[in-house]
Amino acid sequence: MKQYGIIGKPVAQSFSARYFTDKFAREGIDARYERYEVACVEDAQKLIHRLDGFNVTIPHKQAIIPYLNELDATAAEIGAVNVVDSRLKGWNTDCIGFMDSIRPLLTSADTHALILGTGGAAKAVRYGLVQLGLHPTYVSRTPDKMPQAPCPVIGYKDLTADVMRSHTVIVNCTPLGMWPNTDACAPIPYSEIGSAHLLYDCVYNPEETLFLRHGREQGARTRNGLGMLYGQAEAAWKIWTGVQNG
Ligand code: NAP
Repeated sequence: MKQYGIIGKPVAQSFSARYFTDKFAREGIDARYERYEVACVEDAQKLIHRLDGFNVTIPHKQAIIPYLNELDATAAEIGAVNVVDSRLKGWNTDCIGFMDSIRPLLTSADTHALILGTGGAAKAVRYGLVQLGLHPTYVSRTPDKMPQAPCPVIGYKDLTADVMRSHTVIVNCTPLGMWPNTDACAPIPYSEIGSAHLLYDCVYNPEETLFLRHGREQGARTRNGLGMLYGQAEAAWKIWTGVQNG
């Protein structure tokens, strides 16, 4: 029997665990998927060598890298890994999930994007937006702390009417608005948003975050992160079953 799992902390509410357990049962696949609550990657070295594949989640998406044999080029450029195969090669499928889910919503008028937050999701989203031909800018609470960033970094106070008008794609990569803190949203000037904008939220619980609600009320296109979530899981499965190994 093949053995898969997720390592992270916490993992009790893991979507991947539910997704793959259901998938194995539904498709009659002889495999198990376990949650491994791991405080420090160093302590999980034996475990990662005996698994047939695993997901990596917060807070280990970067810390896992020194323990791998190889990195896919995309994961190397993003600097974060959320999927590892049986050869201990690391991949980033958050990026694939994001690109597949936002691609159908983009128009030729969408050329510049704001990425709210600068964490793991933001890095995958930045890479994906560049692949899709857009020019991203990070928006951070501490823009001066990222001198080596691969794209411009501005602060929330720099979001003038002109900046808002010229950046029609806005992707929330902060945890703001995520259940149970559903009253929160990123501090951007929502009154400057209009029908030309696309607001994408990596958060998917609740289905419509306050960020997306403000966007919808201003006439913008909106989408939550559920497609990204399913897309990253499906891409992981393709990697583990060899459909996409390279
Ligand atoms: P993370 O590494 O903790 O980064 C979040 C970033 O948001 C931080 O780097 C920070 O950037 C900013 N931030 C954090 N707290 C904030 C606050 N109170 N106010 C304003 N900005 C704040 O988290 P992550 O892994 O990138 O995940 C971000 C969100 O995306 C989470 O809700 C996660 O569940 C979701 N996500 C969804 C998917 C999916 O498949 N849909 C995949 C990955 C992540 P600055 O310090 O630069 O401001």
